[in-house]
Amino acid sequence: MSAAREELRQAVHRGDDVAIDRLGWAAVFEVLDRFWAKRLATADRLAYATAVGHVPADTVRDTLVALASSGQSPYRPAPAQLAAAVAPTATNTPPGGRRLRTDQHPVALARVRELLAASHPVCGCRGARQFLRDAAGVMRCAACTGLEQGQADTALEADQPDEALAA
Ligand SMILES: [Zn+2]
Repeated sequence: MSAAREELRQAVHRGDDVAIDRLGWAAVFEVLDRFWAKRLATADRLAYATAVGHVPADTVRDTLVALASSGQSPYRPAPAQLAAAVAPTATNTPPGGRRLRTDQHPVALARVRELLAASHPVCGCRGARQFLRDAAGVMRCAACTGLEQGQADTALEADQPDEALAA
């Protein structure tokens, strides 16, 4: 069990809002509480902390927002569903049955759209470039941290979740 997860579990167990906030999870629980009906009880929070407490809080929050805003999750995702969603892998199979590359996962594309909306630059480096994939599946230039043009294009094209899944 990772140290971050254990620390989070302890904080949730104690109801220590300051520690939960310091760990970045106040934002996660806020999304979990507000985007779907009914607030979480401590036992529910503990289940989420156990399932995905080892994942960076930003990634968990982004995943929740993407699930909610893409209409893929009309009900609050269960801890196990969320764990699957925050770990996009090459073997992740979306509802349509088509396997997605990690950098084409709806979560990654939603994050790219968010970054573009926040005026995050697309990489314009010349010559050989290396792109690194972050925890959310976003491809960033190793030199300038700019977004990969191809992924940015895909993200904008996939702005309609229904089309993205049906494509
Ligand atoms: Zn670059």
